[in-house]
Amino acid sequence: MIASTELKQIAPGVHVWAPNSVDTWGLANCTLIHSEGNALVVDTPYTPALTETFLTAARQTTGSEVPLSTIVTTHANGDHTWGSQCLPGADIIATHAALEHQCLEPTPQQLYALVHDTDPDQPLGWYFRLHFGKFNFQDIHVQAPTTTFTGRHDLTVGKIPVELHEVGPAHTVGDLFVHLPEQRVVLAGDIVFAGDHPCHWAGPLERVAAACEQILELDPQWIVPGHGPILAPDGLRSHISYLDDLADQALLMHGQGKTAIEAAHILIGEDRYPDLGLPERLAITLATEFRHLSGDDRRPDLVGLVDHAARIAWSKASGRTLAS
Ligand SMILES: [Zn+2]
Repeated sequence: MIASTELKQIAPGVHVWAPNSVDTWGLANCTLIHSEGNALVVDTPYTPALTETFLTAARQTTGSEVPLSTIVTTHANGDHTWGSQCLPGADIIATHAALEHQCLEPTPQQLYALVHDTDPDQPLGWYFRLHFGKFNFQDIHVQAPTTTFTGRHDLTVGKIPVELHEVGPAHTVGDLFVHLPEQRVVLAGDIVFAGDHPCHWAGPLERVAAACEQILELDPQWIVPGHGPILAPDGLRSHISYLDDLADQALLMHGQGKTAIEAAHILIGEDRYPDLGLPERLAITLATEFRHLSGDDRRPDLVGLVDHAARIAWSKASGRTLAS
């Protein structure tokens, strides 16, 4: 349906599985690092079926004798981690904060219910079916990380040095990015989205932008975002400008007493970011930003946030207006 059956080599030993993920949720870029009979997988897809597609392509690259027994998880969202069960016994490396965050995520069973047991004629049910109906969330058993760290963790894959840099809270509380200094590649996870608006759950935007700046300072040739096309440094610079502008707009409108939803409607109405898909995600990221601006540290209602986004997308798709 959606997934590439091939890996794209972007540097020696670095092979990216990049599904066509613009204008939709849940299709994460995953990467195979392979050198001298050793291999490392960075992130796994959302479902076992998608993961088998990725792993089949990976094994075609490595040969079947190379074990795929180490996974790095960039953060604890399901679309980057739920395929881990397809490599039973693998060492799963993540930040300690990602391990703690995992228990706050919606479960596969809850997502299944949101796709199948909601009203398809209401925004939330319509939106979940549109963006998540293509995934089979049955028979997923979420795997916890087996190796966790804080700050920095280094390893090697054959001859390839691999640095893991903790940068959360930013997109989530437990983010890391992967730096391959000799390949001049950074695997950014959801610190970076390309093509679509990001949805940041932890924030604030200042920390996401700072993590992007940290990536640029490493002078990579290629940056692999969590979703969307691979970027050169100029693409990441443009993304930082977007993040900075969004933070400025949030500060301005929060100061004017507007709600995050009102701010999202205004920016979408202005068509302020015409090149990015899924503008309804502004409702989520701005809600995150407004919580920081208000000093509100209560746990957000994740489904409620997606419901706001769904209402915006529903209005746009149907021409109907809903009270927000
Ligand atoms: Zn994510």
